[in-house]
Amino acid sequence: MRALRLSDKLELVRDAPLPRHPQETLVQVICAGICNTDLEITKGYAGFEGTLGHEFVGRVVESPRAELIGRRVAGEINVGCGACPLCKSGDSRHCPSRSVLGIKGRDGAFADYLSLPDANLFEVPDSIDDTAAVFLEPLAAALHILDAIEIDHSTQVAIVGDGKLAQLVIRSLTTTGCDITAIGKHESKLSLARVAGARAVPLSDAERERGAFDVVIDASGSASGISLAIELVKPTGTIILKSTHHGSTTLSLTPVVVNELRIAGSRCGRLGPAIEAMSRGSIDVTSLISAVASLDDGPQAFARAGEPGAMKVILRMS
Ligand SMILES: [Zn+2]
Ligand SMILES: [Zn+2]
Repeated sequence: MRALRLSDKLELVRDAPLPRHPQETLVQVICAGICNTDLEITKGYAGFEGTLGHEFVGRVVESPRAELIGRRVAGEINVGCGACPLCKSGDSRHCPSRSVLGIKGRDGAFADYLSLPDANLFEVPDSIDDTAAVFLEPLAAALHILDAIEIDHSTQVAIVGDGKLAQLVIRSLTTTGCDITAIGKHESKLSLARVAGARAVPLSDAERERGAFDVVIDASGSASGISLAIELVKPTGTIILKSTHHGSTTLSLTPVVVNELRIAGSRCGRLGPAIEAMSRGSIDVTSLISAVASLDDGPQAFARAGEPGAMKVILRMS
């Protein structure tokens, strides 16, 4: 089968073996989305080598759960050991020996086939088309913010960033009725934020927004996002860190102490709520697609996804 694999460079391999894990389900991939995490992995984040890709929709070919065969599915990406206390409590996302599709110890979705346990797979209803279904995994991650913090119509929220993840966060938060401000660099992306219901502020004007928000979510994908978040949040407010990026940052933590801030990280979420929100029609993602390319053009599609101004680039397998 074909697979877009990273070793010292990213390359399309035409004779990759089928991914076979005993007791797991084999999925023929239909579409998969290129995420900033994938771009960061190609720069060395997570130290991963293998087939990239973790945002996908596909059709089940083989499964120990016979009723799944032939179904169109999306998947949660963390696979725990099944034996440790975290896995036993139902939290394989934090299992210390987990593998993660296309990110850690497990080949991913930029290929003709992938393998996951059946428990990771969720049927996608017909109301969600293939390209929209690719957004279910990152949408689940965006909605997961609402598991970490209470946000209601009276909450003033700022999102630092205007890229793909930031746009999904904005769309997720509109369901709460809260007041949303998006702060970003790109006018075209800020206008997408505006369409979704956010007030949009160019980064150059962020200074004026100092101390104005109960909650600030950093989805900027850059090391400077957290420093800005610390400036924007009200005393005793909360900062949620959503971006993964390769590299480290230095910042002054004194304001965190003086202003008694809370800082929390947030990563992957559950697919169920994402499927429900998207099938209700309350979250539109079609405006976030920049391009759909063939897997054969994978390396070029990666270059496109990394261009400034690019939103989601989707790889189609057939
Ligand atoms: Zn992703
Ligand atoms: Zn475990």
